[in-house]
Amino acid sequence: MTLAVSANFDSGNIDVLSIDNPEDIRLSIRQDHQSDFYQWFHFRVTGAKGVPLTLRIVNAGGSAYPDGWPGYKARVSECRQVWAQAETSYASGELTIRYTPRSNSVWFAYFAPYSMERHHDLIAEMAQKPGVDVSVLGQTLDGQDLDLVTIGEAAKNKGGGNKRSVWIIARQHPGETMAEWAVEGMLRRLTDPADPVAARLRQKCVFYIVPNMNPDGSRRGHLRTNAAGVNLNREWGTPTLEASPEVFHVLAHMDKVGCDFCLDVHGDEAIPHNFIAGFEGVSEASEHQFELLERYKTALERISPDFQTRVGYEPSKPGEANLSMSTNALAARYGCLAMTLEMPFKDAEENPDPAHGWSGERSGHLGRACLDALLELADDLR
Ligand code: ZN
Repeated sequence: MTLAVSANFDSGNIDVLSIDNPEDIRLSIRQDHQSDFYQWFHFRVTGAKGVPLTLRIVNAGGSAYPDGWPGYKARVSECRQVWAQAETSYASGELTIRYTPRSNSVWFAYFAPYSMERHHDLIAEMAQKPGVDVSVLGQTLDGQDLDLVTIGEAAKNKGGGNKRSVWIIARQHPGETMAEWAVEGMLRRLTDPADPVAARLRQKCVFYIVPNMNPDGSRRGHLRTNAAGVNLNREWGTPTLEASPEVFHVLAHMDKVGCDFCLDVHGDEAIPHNFIAGFEGVSEASEHQFELLERYKTALERISPDFQTRVGYEPSKPGEANLSMSTNALAARYGCLAMTLEMPFKDAEENPDPAHGWSGERSGHLGRACLDALLELADDLR
């Protein structure tokens, strides 16, 4: 079988520069369409059973976040269920991955992929559950459905009108697949009839969950933008149907049903920790909002050993918030607790796992813990 590299599949991304020598396969990551961003890669190597491979991503140094490469390990899988860390090094702008496949088919990715097929499986699974409503908010530029999972709304209309509107949105940046893994964990817990935290939350809140804000970027193998090369998390000031229908439709529904809480789930390339970024620079934000923000972070740190509050982004100064970002825009628009949850592409230093690094599974557990923290302040979310 001839050695080959392919990426023409859901969320695939790589260009092959040369493949003559298995110990010097030269690859480059494609830019997001109509954008300079790139960092996400996902490709398959065939015909290399037992052959020591050296894969060099030669344009890593020019990627969106070159600080993401030192200390990073590429993920590899032969079964497409478990994704392990491969031997990886970064020098002189090149990311070098070394691996000897046990079979003639092996996949490499920036992080455990979350395919659109898996997304549809998740939506179908949720649609079967009692008390869950699955709907389509609109279409993306590529004509994909923008899915919304609503939990507990029927009860709101039947006298539960005081329920809080809780929004969870993920994968505005499509290459941050850990975000949808986290939301999968949240959805499974929220719909578990035996889980007492979920039961209590369903009494107090209506959940509006968008597991994938950017289906087009996901399928195209983008890092950060949609089909038009637009970074959705810079569109929350004035989204348009032409450039950012994903944000346009979500914001329209938020205006309709309200927003008392929003967790926007992301991944960070450089920082090897889980952390939350708030709306510190929003001058309109109230003391109550800032108090809720501190309470939420403190609760999550106590609940999950994978979460911490020591390392994160430098908060914006008062009045200097970028109001095109969802967390700032929503905190200002609705006076609510809005937050950005960031998870690492590298391992999480609080609780390292040298074999797998930070993973989809661990993202799911952090998602579940986010619900424990939410319950602690659900009554005060207004
Ligand atoms: Zn992001």
